[in-house]
Amino acid sequence: MLFVRIMIVKSVISSLWTAGPDLLERAVGELSATLCAAPAGTGVFFRADDVAVPGEACRRMMALFRDHGLPLHLAVTPAWLTAPRWAVLREWAGDADLWCWHQHGWRHVNHQREGKKGEFGTDRDRDAKAADLARGRARLEEIMGESFCPVFTPPWNRFDAETGDILLRAGYAAVSRSDGAQRAVPLPPELPDIPVNVDLHTRREADPEQGVRALVDEVAAAAQTGRIGFMLHHQRMNAAALEFLDRLLAVVAASGLEPIRLDRLRGAAGMKKTRPPHV
Ligand SMILES: [Zn+2]
Repeated sequence: MLFVRIMIVKSVISSLWTAGPDLLERAVGELSATLCAAPAGTGVFFRADDVAVPGEACRRMMALFRDHGLPLHLAVTPAWLTAPRWAVLREWAGDADLWCWHQHGWRHVNHQREGKKGEFGTDRDRDAKAADLARGRARLEEIMGESFCPVFTPPWNRFDAETGDILLRAGYAAVSRSDGAQRAVPLPPELPDIPVNVDLHTRREADPEQGVRALVDEVAAAAQTGRIGFMLHHQRMNAAALEFLDRLLAVVAASGLEPIRLDRLRGAAGMKKTRPPHV
């Protein structure tokens, strides 16, 4: 019961996903044009947050990625995961080598006294944050075994500089925050931040028309940066959102975009290890 009580996942559906089929069809067409026109070498990745409890939306989301053969980064909240829940998720994953199961905080609770929410922010001391990070990683490693990837997605997409230092020293391969977080809390090249820059399911536009416009614009802006990172929240997906995801993944699979795996980056950390000592 503990895990049920502490879960604070919202399941509000963004106005975008109440749009009629014509509007969503138009969005798919515009996104297709944008993605197919992206310069060669443009990367793409997908990150699904708040994973742990195997519900129907999660099952269908994973099935879509399997069907289209595209990788998905699953940010798992350690305190919500149990061995029986993992057994179900593992079964859904099957043998496909598409999944980057990684750490999404510890309990997904806010510790900031005011301002923007954060589980690993400035209102906690370093030891408390280090303990929660270690606890979360240990739990995922214990339950998931070798399926665990040492990648960190912070709840609410943010953490403070102390946490960045703890993650670096603990040898995480990468983190994923939101676009702009690197300016607020810079990380060294040894700990690459691969941010999400397109929000599919926690949008706040007032009506579907505005939602479609903003999403299409967001993808176009992301494509300009050379990397498109889609953030997913399966608890907020309805039938229209699932149908749209199916179409989006088909477009991505057919485009020249290069899928990125955060656990397989050829980043500075790997290069440093293989660099000759005199260089
Ligand atoms: Zn989250």
